[in-house]
Amino acid sequence: MPLVTMKEVLKESIEGKYAVGAFDSLDRVFTEAIINAAEKKGVPVILMVVPPCIEGPDSERFMEYVVTRCRESSVPVAVHLDHSPSFENCARGIHLGCTSVMFDGSALPYEENVAITKKVVEMAHAAGVTVEAEIGHVSGHEGNMLDGNIADESAFTTVEEAMQFYQDTQVDCLAVAIGTVHGVYKGEPHLDLDRLQAIRDELPIPVVIHGGSGLKEKDYKELVAHGANKINFFTTMTLAASEAVRKLLAEHDKLTMTDIIEVGQKAAEDIVSEHIEIFGTKPLTK
Ligand SMILES: [Zn+2]
Repeated sequence: MPLVTMKEVLKESIEGKYAVGAFDSLDRVFTEAIINAAEKKGVPVILMVVPPCIEGPDSERFMEYVVTRCRESSVPVAVHLDHSPSFENCARGIHLGCTSVMFDGSALPYEENVAITKKVVEMAHAAGVTVEAEIGHVSGHEGNMLDGNIADESAFTTVEEAMQFYQDTQVDCLAVAIGTVHGVYKGEPHLDLDRLQAIRDELPIPVVIHGGSGLKEKDYKELVAHGANKINFFTTMTLAASEAVRKLLAEHDKLTMTDIIEVGQKAAEDIVSEHIEIFGTKPLTK
């Protein structure tokens, strides 16, 4: 089945009151872990690649593998380009087979964010690809993944901004800032669930939460209950995989590279499965 757009993957999530997990993969190990987990659960999934995956000399080969693996999957998968910084980069992602792109203009002045997002939407829709954008700003993707970040309340998304941005751009789903951060949390997270619910109640398109790592199970369940439809997840997965490898190395003197990869992949797959369950993802009914 199928490689599908993110709009397709998320089309029943609002009514069904669940979220679909969006997991980053920068390599073959995580790609297999993510798709295997979704196949075993029998639910749709979003596999995210990041701008460096589509830029380097190896990018065409890597993306060909990712797209082929997803196309051959037994569950619907969207290949999504996460946090693309420019129109040109989005175009490259589409050229290499992404079925969805995120243009992140959240650090730009509003008018500029709208202007570029609109151009991306026009191009992507012409190519049968769907678009995510961000309004408000989720802290922490400035390269501080492991040291910890705190949420900037002044950059939280308002209902008015979300609606205006949607009307101005016609994006297919919208990332909002309500208290999550990218990378690991510094201190206790405070999620503005009322704000999330208010956005969900107004906005006709799926709502996306970035910076999902580091939350507790009950936090995720609250996010889903208050209207999150796509949850981005990476840091916890990569930390779990490296921790499993560290433990394996500490316990054995002799190991092959295959042993190490297998253990890392299994740990990533387990954590993806666990979060698919927590997010309440359901199979598509049609
Ligand atoms: Zn993000």
